[in-house]
Amino acid sequence: MNIILLGPPGAGKGTQAKKIQEHYKFPHISTGDILRENINNNTGLGLKAKSYMARGELVPDELLITIIKDRLSKKDCQNGFMLDGYPRTIPQADALQMILTESGEMVDVVLNIFVDDEELIKRLSGRRMCKCGASYHVIFNPPAQEDVCNLCKGKLYQRDDDKPETIRNRLNVYKKQTQPLINYYSNKKILKTIDGSKDIHQIFEEIKEELDKYDQ
Ligand code: ADP
Ligand code: ADP
Ligand code: ZN
Repeated sequence: MNIILLGPPGAGKGTQAKKIQEHYKFPHISTGDILRENINNNTGLGLKAKSYMARGELVPDELLITIIKDRLSKKDCQNGFMLDGYPRTIPQADALQMILTESGEMVDVVLNIFVDDEELIKRLSGRRMCKCGASYHVIFNPPAQEDVCNLCKGKLYQRDDDKPETIRNRLNVYKKQTQPLINYYSNKKILKTIDGSKDIHQIFEEIKEELDKYDQ
């Protein structure tokens, strides 16, 4: 089964993705994590992406399409996958459809996690990340031990783009460039809207209820 997690920055895509991955074993593909890893390793791709990410702008489509094409060709995606942070534009969604059609596949469900701006700002300002992709919140979802990841014991850090000015820009970019995907997938009748303002466990229960409708 092929899943997309859609939603504004801070909606809880990464948090739910970790839980879905643990429960259903689908690989969690986060384009944000892939880009950040490239920046840390000083790759050519990282170098190209860095300034866009620092400003809270989207990295150009052609780079993302190459990343996703390459990642989806890996063996672990053969029995389904979960995309977090891709697609973020209509051209990215069109490219995904082309890639999947070539191998006789499709997107089965798009989980659209909805949260209002005020709550998003609170979530992003208190977010702490781990290199393994896990995310925490200083108040809403603190790790068992301060600044240490529950999953891998890595040291938590605050993302540079989780600063107030950049957060505002990212929310605007989301509205302009990514929000149109809601209609795009709604027209394809594969959109499922999830109320992301509830607590983490309640949201996961709702997601499970939806995913259990499909053959895994
Ligand atoms: P996204 O991947 O969509 O940007 P994250 O999963 O990183 O979002 O979550 C953003 C922040 O909000 C993190 O600090 C996370 O711990 C917190 N968070 C996630 N889900 C909830 C929730 N349902 N209620 C409160 N805080 C949440
Ligand atoms: P969030 O969890 O806050 O939604 P991500 O970790 O998914 O953020 O993405 C961080 C940044 O990486 C984005 O602001 C953007 O610059 C870049 N990025 C990630 N995925 C994409 C994508 N599909 N298209 C363009 N840029 C992307
Ligand atoms: Zn970790």
